[in-house]
Amino acid sequence: MSGNAVRVQAIQTITNRQPMPTKPPATLDSLWASDVFTLNKMKESLPKEIFKSLKKTIETSSELDVSIADVVALAMKDWALSKGALYYAHVFYPLTNATAEKHDGFISVQSDGSVISEFSGKVLVQGEPDGSSFPNGGIRSTFEARGYTAWDVTSPAFIMTTDNGATLCIPTVFVSWTGEALDKKTPLLRANAAMNKAAHRVLSLLGHTGIAPVNSSCGAEQEYFLVDANFVSSRPDLLLTGRTLFGASPAKGQQFDDHYFGAIPERVQVFMQDVEEQLYRLGIPAKTRHNEVAPGQFEIAPFFESANVATDHQQLLMTVLKNTAKKHGLVCLLHEKPFKGINGSGKHVNWSVGNATQGNLLDPGSTPHSNSQFLLFCGAVIRGVHKFGPLLRAAIATASNDHRLGANEAPPAIMSVYLGTQLDNVFEQISKGEITGSLNAGIMDLGIKTLPTFSKDAGDRNRTSPFAFTGNRFEFRAVGSGQSVAGPLVAMNTMLADSLNWVADELESELGKGADLDTAILTVLKAVIDKHGAVVFGGNGYSPEWHKMAVEERGLRNLRTAADALPVLKEKEIEALFDGLGVLSPVELASRFDIYAEQYILAIEVEAKLVISMAKTGIYPAAVKYLADLSSTISSLQSNGVELGNESLLRISTTLNTMMATVDKLSTVLGQHDFASIEEHMQFCAQTIRPLMDEVRLYADTLETEVADELWPFPTYQEMLFIK
Ligand code: ADP
Ligand code: MG
Repeated sequence: MSGNAVRVQAIQTITNRQPMPTKPPATLDSLWASDVFTLNKMKESLPKEIFKSLKKTIETSSELDVSIADVVALAMKDWALSKGALYYAHVFYPLTNATAEKHDGFISVQSDGSVISEFSGKVLVQGEPDGSSFPNGGIRSTFEARGYTAWDVTSPAFIMTTDNGATLCIPTVFVSWTGEALDKKTPLLRANAAMNKAAHRVLSLLGHTGIAPVNSSCGAEQEYFLVDANFVSSRPDLLLTGRTLFGASPAKGQQFDDHYFGAIPERVQVFMQDVEEQLYRLGIPAKTRHNEVAPGQFEIAPFFESANVATDHQQLLMTVLKNTAKKHGLVCLLHEKPFKGINGSGKHVNWSVGNATQGNLLDPGSTPHSNSQFLLFCGAVIRGVHKFGPLLRAAIATASNDHRLGANEAPPAIMSVYLGTQLDNVFEQISKGEITGSLNAGIMDLGIKTLPTFSKDAGDRNRTSPFAFTGNRFEFRAVGSGQSVAGPLVAMNTMLADSLNWVADELESELGKGADLDTAILTVLKAVIDKHGAVVFGGNGYSPEWHKMAVEERGLRNLRTAADALPVLKEKEIEALFDGLGVLSPVELASRFDIYAEQYILAIEVEAKLVISMAKTGIYPAAVKYLADLSSTISSLQSNGVELGNESLLRISTTLNTMMATVDKLSTVLGQHDFASIEEHMQFCAQTIRPLMDEVRLYADTLETEVADELWPFPTYQEMLFIK
């Protein structure tokens, strides 16, 4: 089969497909967390004392009493067996965006040849996957390739059911035998602990006692595309890279804005319900679903949870989306920019910090007292984004997210904070010191009370800001759709820990000088806004004026590509930040730079190779065939005395020749391997390889609009986006 015969067959298959049988809806009660070893299930199956000890560890992150592991393991195994699981797996999150798991059976063969099921505390608590092929950025040389997984009690175990059976999954951290973090979870737990410690300092200074552990929360809105699998299998680019490297824009794209929040297509709705049912079983609180801006694009947003659990759940959600799509004959694309000229996908990470005694610390509340506490935490975030904006940028730097950031649809690569008019105004007042006149008169109290109380709904929204206050949390909107949320959360919690420590230092110093608490708070807030107010921006983040102003007047950095942003991880200030707070040692940080830089280079090189092969083996033959058909038609018409102009023949052949010349150039530059540093190699990818790929595409897409449709080998945008 050649040319569009493949496409025609795909369309026929799709048109004739039988809809997935719909199941009668199950009740939420029967579904909810049915595949999770929840606190309630532990309570039912564990001796009281053991349950209490475990619960304490889960709720307060206190040390795990390893001696109880055997009893817990037994209860967990019995529950898993009752759910039909014969295997267990330590699940961990290596430094890719993937989830890794190693499966072992509960089976234990006895000397008489019989078998029993076995699962000891030792294997629950610790595992040793042969992790030598996971990226480690040089932390482990292969002769000491041991990597250990260790049970993360704070994230519940669950059963993952696929057509191939059920497996008990135990969330774990993954470390080298020398204790270095080889994963994304370990630094997240450490960053959270550092933030908790710093928040305690501030809350204590504000006069609180008996403060409960402070935890960060995360609610991630996931955008994705769905494309019929029949199309994807004849698009090598989608198969291998998750995005289209070629494809002319359809006559109708998203210009009508008729997809956003529109009625969900039936096939997709059935898919979504299937996804949600599985998520509910896994205790993932899927809450919102809707069509997104682009045709074929959708969003799912679970209700927020503690950052650690939400991060594990986010990984699971991506897995469930992909697996379920397959079952429905669809492919779920989590790439940040699968289609050129069509909106890309992001993952808005809603983030806050709070605890059981003070509640959400980024909620303004309604009393002046909680207002000043809120303002301190909010001010700490502002300072954090100003000081460590480039780190936030680095935390979302991938080859795929580069297509989105800075394009006219997604947040710019410049990190700024949007506060909303009301909050802007409060900080403006603080900065102007409008109330400082009252300081000496001892009516400071009154001063703080004059600050307006905020309503929860910050009013207007700013869709162009990468980091926006949204009433009781911040929303980091520049995170990529395919990314783990761990990295961004580590960056946010760490920058906040640093800022809260600074706030505590400043408060202590002011109080030490004899200031009363309210005066001290105002002094600190004023210092925040005076030194760091440059990062606050409420205007249009897409506008060229902002890009100029941000850099030239405000001194913010515009790190356009991941090649510009990733080297931030090597900066002394960042190393000191992570090391000082015990989140990542210099070695661990350096390994992350190496791995992410390498992934960036690999991603672009794979795409470039694919551009070359698709151009040579798909597009070139189609265009040549068309030229041959056309020229023989022109000749035979001519011999019959009919003139058919040869303009298109010339135009197409010129475009084709230029495309092939560019393909040759791309092949040549891909052969270059002589770089002084990995940074230089990344820049080469960004500045030489990518533009050449774009150029090849430009000619190829022109050809797509000229060559006979029946010869075109790849499913078109129109087909992929609109046929379901
Ligand atoms: P929008 O599309 O308007 O930004 P959504 O309702 O789709 O909002 O998503 C908002 C997300 O923010 C949800 O996941 C919600 O649970 C989450 N969220 C709400 N409060 C908090 C909080 N305190 N901390 C973290 N996430 C939160
Ligand atoms: Mg949002």
